[in-house]
Amino acid sequence: MNDISRRAALMGAAGSFFGANSARAQRSPRIHLRVLGTSDLHMFALDWDYYLNRPDSTVGLNKLASLIKKARSEAGNSLLLDNGDILQGSPMGDFLATVDQFKSNPAHPFFVAMNALAYDAATLGNHEFNFGLPFLDRALKSANFPFVCANVRGVGDKTILPPYVILRRRLVDEDNVAHDVRIGVIGFVPPQIMVWDRFHLEGKVSAQSIVASARQFLPELRAQSDLVIALCHSGIGDGRADINAENVAEQVAAFDEIDAIITGHSHRVFPGPDYAGRPGIDAQKGTLSGKPGIMPGFWGSHLGVIDLILEQANGLWRIANFQVEARPIYRREGATIVSACEPDPQTVAVFASAHAQTQDWVSQPIGELATPLHSYFVWAGHDLPTALINMAQLDYARSLLAGTPLAEMPLLSAAAPFRAGYTPDAYVDIKAGPIAIRDAANLYMFSNTISIVRVNGAVLKDWLEHAARVFQRFDPENAAPQPLLDLRVPTYNFDVIAGLEYEIDISQPARTDLNGRMVADHAHRIVDLRYQGRPIDARQEFLVVTNNYRAGGGGHFPAIDGDNIALNDATANRDALISFIRKSGRLSVTDQSPWRFRKTDTPLRAWFDSAPMAANLVSQFPELQHIGPGRAGYARFEVQIG
Ligand code: MN
Ligand code: MG
Repeated sequence: MNDISRRAALMGAAGSFFGANSARAQRSPRIHLRVLGTSDLHMFALDWDYYLNRPDSTVGLNKLASLIKKARSEAGNSLLLDNGDILQGSPMGDFLATVDQFKSNPAHPFFVAMNALAYDAATLGNHEFNFGLPFLDRALKSANFPFVCANVRGVGDKTILPPYVILRRRLVDEDNVAHDVRIGVIGFVPPQIMVWDRFHLEGKVSAQSIVASARQFLPELRAQSDLVIALCHSGIGDGRADINAENVAEQVAAFDEIDAIITGHSHRVFPGPDYAGRPGIDAQKGTLSGKPGIMPGFWGSHLGVIDLILEQANGLWRIANFQVEARPIYRREGATIVSACEPDPQTVAVFASAHAQTQDWVSQPIGELATPLHSYFVWAGHDLPTALINMAQLDYARSLLAGTPLAEMPLLSAAAPFRAGYTPDAYVDIKAGPIAIRDAANLYMFSNTISIVRVNGAVLKDWLEHAARVFQRFDPENAAPQPLLDLRVPTYNFDVIAGLEYEIDISQPARTDLNGRMVADHAHRIVDLRYQGRPIDARQEFLVVTNNYRAGGGGHFPAIDGDNIALNDATANRDALISFIRKSGRLSVTDQSPWRFRKTDTPLRAWFDSAPMAANLVSQFPELQHIGPGRAGYARFEVQIG
């Protein structure tokens, strides 16, 4: 829709905005306020892929900045809000937080860029806590716009940031008359930060239920505001009314005090087909519990635009009409990416130094690979990237434990494929030959730290059972190809445990649901589980080296809840990987997966999507076949099991 027809559509229900109106003098004042929302930018500052060292037109605040400026120029009144998950995610974020640490960048460049774009307010995402509270504290000093968060408290009862802010803005109505309008902005983050970043947060802060905090603060905020907008770093849920749930955007939107809501965290787009048909949601119009709502993608992929028509009656402003739109920075036409906007030069300039420094850092050589590594076929058990992470974690843990009583215990390592299809471009693909830090960052994209847990054989089996729920249940009676993956399970929750051998029987139902609750007690997907060639003893104790996210309880793995941590180490898993590669000389990683699918009597065929690039490699794997295009931007492959 072009701007003129857009405006006409928007105004249609309530009369012309700018046209002649004989009743103008009697009419109540009407204001068009455009609320722009961004979310889950994750330090994607520029349209650049640091792993592959080339431009990437699917990401970047620099591209989003062009959309922001354009959207603003179309509206007389606008606000720009961010919904969190800013500081962590790209190699630039890791460089600034872990290498530079404000030594050469006295202000955090991402906030400098957001300042230049004149953000009005923002909230924290869960990933803001990944580098610890002192770093967050210091980084926030660079922002000259307010941050709000209503559900994280310090040691006392006080929230670590103001729970809300009231923006006093002079807005111009359709007759060019100015009105002082008070816009309340409140922010929320998933209380699960206490699990995911337990190591950084335990004993320092506490997080409360989003819904309970909304109930606490909204009446006082409403009393002081003409309009209330929620910055909800929480996704659109599955309709469950669980007060402590992670994704509660509809529940927040349902509060009478809320006029509009910006959601995020789930890295999806709303309005859009992802949420069609859910109760309480209009996925086309863009409403959550009847209120205008937006989820603007991730990594800078979309700008959220909520157009509000405010009408004044009896001294109160109310929303007379609204329209919601997620504007993309690119679109896919088959396997081709078509850019929808140019980078904003002013934003590019802000990052000049950080970009150069990040490129220098990721280009540092760390070793040499004898074998190429890719993640295109991890779902068929060909997963050298994860095998290498496990090799490095085992090596690191052995030296950490040497000389301690724990050194006598059997040691295993758990890791998962991180870059394995989150987008059609997000795969590991590292050629044999010299490798650099960019390759280690590609292999290990999260800012996790080393944790070692102590578990028995029974817990190990449940750990693997929950990991195996990434696979759909296979119907052996059905000869047609069936989908292999349950795409609701993030790839980072498919833990592979090195040091064990096991088979996965996908004709069995998953034992656990997405939240780790036992739902099929009789079922066993993990079969023939062995340690050193012998069936595992349920009571035997093991140490498993993993990361702080998993050890703290991330991913809802049964009995992995933070209580079985034997040792926490401040070393980043990625740094352990880099050290291992550095000391390994020419490094070979062999295709010896700890797991394989359980063979069936009659061969089964299952399909999964991977990168189009993968079609060039498929002939190396006799059980795999390229069968054509997959979901938007992907290619589809078939694996024969049995
Ligand atoms: Mn995020
Ligand atoms: Mg998040």
